[in-house]
Amino acid sequence: MIKIELNDTFLHTDAKQYLVQKQSEIDAETTFTSQQTKASQLWNQKSSAQKFRHVKPWLKSACVGVEICNYCENNEASDIEHIFPKKLYPERCFKSDNYLLACKQCNTGYKLDKFAVFSNATSSSIIEYKNKQVVSNAPPVQESVFIDPRTEDPMDYLFLNLKTGVFIPNIRSGSDPRRDAKASYTLQILQLNDRNGLQQYRSDAYGDFVRDLKRCIQIKNATTNQELEDIFFPGVIDTTKHVDQNISYAINQIKNRVLRSRNITVWYEMLRQYSLISTLRVLFDQLPEAKSWKR
Ligand SMILES: [Zn+2]
Repeated sequence: MIKIELNDTFLHTDAKQYLVQKQSEIDAETTFTSQQTKASQLWNQKSSAQKFRHVKPWLKSACVGVEICNYCENNEASDIEHIFPKKLYPERCFKSDNYLLACKQCNTGYKLDKFAVFSNATSSSIIEYKNKQVVSNAPPVQESVFIDPRTEDPMDYLFLNLKTGVFIPNIRSGSDPRRDAKASYTLQILQLNDRNGLQQYRSDAYGDFVRDLKRCIQIKNATTNQELEDIFFPGVIDTTKHVDQNISYAINQIKNRVLRSRNITVWYEMLRQYSLISTLRVLFDQLPEAKSWKR
């Protein structure tokens, strides 16, 4: 998981108005349970609202990969997910900063209404809410244990073993029980280390990105268009152009593909860890421009 950079300046005005209006209808309810009911009711009606239809394309623009789930980074991003569940936080049901796009599996198979907050401002003990649990009072106003990728950088909490594809709590900045709790809880809720294939996909992505780097280095060292054609896709290079122009073009094509890939966290981890892994360090030293390849 990486941080989602998304600004509502680019959300259609009609959608913004709709969200404000629907949220005010929920906020006008006088008890927590009536707010819950109202939120659920209005959320179920939103699909028929023309104005709400602008929300998904706006969220898609921030998705990792080509419309890939922001949690697992593997499946199609199909669902508008409330990071703070609307059942526990009806006051955030129509708040656009509480949305991200996730896949059906992450949204309705794993995260559901599960959530947790710390029991107070300093402790690492947590108050956990299970799925389908009847909650008749608003959760205490405390920090979320689940990492919110709209406001926090998940990489501050999680560290990826590139070879195995396994996430662990990020203890590089020193152990901190609250940070560890956030990492463990988020991994547990989304089952990012336990779901079929996810570890393997991340580990495979590492191999793919290393191959992309090696290919870029070969391209960079090419001296003729013919040589370049042999390395890059045949027929894509415009042989009427100077070889240097074609080198920039080819490297840029690979860069764009890397940044559109599934499992983009693997790439970000490579940027974070290359100085610690000698084979990666050698590659990045030969292609220093790749050190700044970010979305
Ligand atoms: Zn997912």
